[in-house]
Amino acid sequence: MYGVVVCPRCRKAKGVDLSQKATACPCGFEIHVVPARVRARTSIPRELPGLVGEVNAEIAGGLAAYRDAARPRKRPRSRNVHARVVASAVRAGDRMHRIRAAAEGLTRELDVFSLDDWREVLGGLGLVEAEEALQELLKGNVVYEPRPGFFRAVPAIP
Ligand SMILES: [Zn+2]
Repeated sequence: MYGVVVCPRCRKAKGVDLSQKATACPCGFEIHVVPARVRARTSIPRELPGLVGEVNAEIAGGLAAYRDAARPRKRPRSRNVHARVVASAVRAGDRMHRIRAAAEGLTRELDVFSLDDWREVLGGLGLVEAEEALQELLKGNVVYEPRPGFFRAVPAIP
């Protein structure tokens, strides 16, 4: 029986005769052949290189997916949205007008906005009491909560 093992040091797959207890990896590490860690098996030696390739591809794929997930998420669109809303709301006048303009701007840009969106915009306006401000708007019926955790400015009556 033949199998594919993965070197714990260099993370490369290697074909091995499973009757062996250990095999030397090209990186110099001695891989112990542990049955539970054999990734693929075959009784046909010529199938082994294909299986090694598959396991290497799996490792590379898993690694790519992992790197993708570990990369800090880029939110360019979202960031632009917040910057635009901040830029327009900052000119709206006093605190209450700015808060109102922020809610209206977010609604215009995003349709509904989350507390995170709200905090980011209010932070951009230099206002730290984001949650209190949102509560004020909710109480004043300037903003409502169409879905739990999502907010929208009440359309202004022309
Ligand atoms: Zn190795």
